[in-house]
Amino acid sequence: MTVGRGPQGIALLGATGSIGETAQRVVARHRERFRFVAMTAHGNLAGLKTAAATWNPGFVGLVEPGAESLPAGWGRGADCLIEAARHPDASVVLNAVVGAAGLGATLAALGAGKRVALANKESLVVGGALVQRAAIAGGGEVIPVDSEHSALLQCLAGRVGRAGRDGAGLLPVAGVRRFIITASGGPFRTWDVERIRAARLADALNHPTWAMGKKITVDSASLANKALEVIEAHVLYGVPYERIEVVVHPQSIVHSMVEFEDGSILAQLGVPTMELPVLYALGYPDRVEDHGVPRFDPVAAAALTFEAVRHDAFPTLELGIAAGRRGGAAPAVFNAANEAAVSRFLGGTLSFAGIPAAIAASLERHGDLPGEDLPALLAADAAARTYVQEFR
Ligand code: NDP
Ligand code: MG
Repeated sequence: MTVGRGPQGIALLGATGSIGETAQRVVARHRERFRFVAMTAHGNLAGLKTAAATWNPGFVGLVEPGAESLPAGWGRGADCLIEAARHPDASVVLNAVVGAAGLGATLAALGAGKRVALANKESLVVGGALVQRAAIAGGGEVIPVDSEHSALLQCLAGRVGRAGRDGAGLLPVAGVRRFIITASGGPFRTWDVERIRAARLADALNHPTWAMGKKITVDSASLANKALEVIEAHVLYGVPYERIEVVVHPQSIVHSMVEFEDGSILAQLGVPTMELPVLYALGYPDRVEDHGVPRFDPVAAAALTFEAVRHDAFPTLELGIAAGRRGGAAPAVFNAANEAAVSRFLGGTLSFAGIPAAIAASLERHGDLPGEDLPALLAADAAARTYVQEFR
């Protein structure tokens, strides 16, 4: 409990991003309960200055400051992520960095016994086993921010355990028959296969229900995001892949469902805003009274619909799930190949169809690389990135 000891300290990694700004909006409504004690960004000096001026955290760090000079006392370089993640005044580390670059901070925070409110799903995809070991060794815990995994946790209400045995999950659960993870389907849900293959960047960035950073928005268009989320659900809850299903739900109101062993199904619903899962992860296991989120009106919504995934149109989903099942370095290779392919798509040097093609080719070459420890995983990640950068 924080009562009598002032607001709980939060280290916010990725303060200038979509989740970082969402977190600042949420915490602004709950200053009696939470405060930011550390903040980081990658290269956005102006954005980080604004955030630091608003919150006056004890530590501020910019990973790649370039040629600009930083305000006195700021940290710089990749180490500032680790310094923020271990900050002595932080009991919660909200990891809202994008990409595999977030893994080191997740490990550092868990090693220091912190709660990690984890938006950076790539941490779990790249280094699931390492994250689990760090949680056990350091006594920290991971609470998901991703809306689907927050929904699962809310449906599992009180039934999850603590990280223990290898592979059992960070929040191990028994008595689950099936997870049903929902996907909006993205902007290309109804497009035919040929049109999707030639989709332009502006089309991919035009997400129907969620406003997010560019990388995850492209991942939502290709369904790579859903592959990352299936792996994330497996690592978090220890539920085997054959019991995790994906279903398309275009309205993004039902954030996921859990079927229990008696056949009963619980779903979590709400308007599509990340403010809810961010607040839930910060306050877990409590619910924090909040009136900042638009209310859901079931009559106005009228219809909630569900459809099967069109795997022929979105091959990245099955590629990612297969990599998860394969284990070892394969999920890290899937993730790195996807990051490199998305970066090229954003830069205009790879077509939308090139994303799954590059990932598939990289998995074929690098999927069996060793992945038993961090150096091995980083080597596999680097091999996949280099390969995809050259991919034709
Ligand atoms: P953004 O691109 O909007 O923000 C990313 C943040 O991370 C920025 O603050 C950025 O700093 C910083 N950053 C980028 N690269 C690095 C790096 N190499 N090292 C350190 N910091 C870095 O991303 P989102 O907020 O959309 O997503 C963040 C994470 O949350 C992702 O893992 C995503 O999958 C996950 N997520 C996001 C959701 C959303 O609604 N946006 C929903 C569910 C999950 P700078 O601004 O200086 O570049
Ligand atoms: Mg999600």
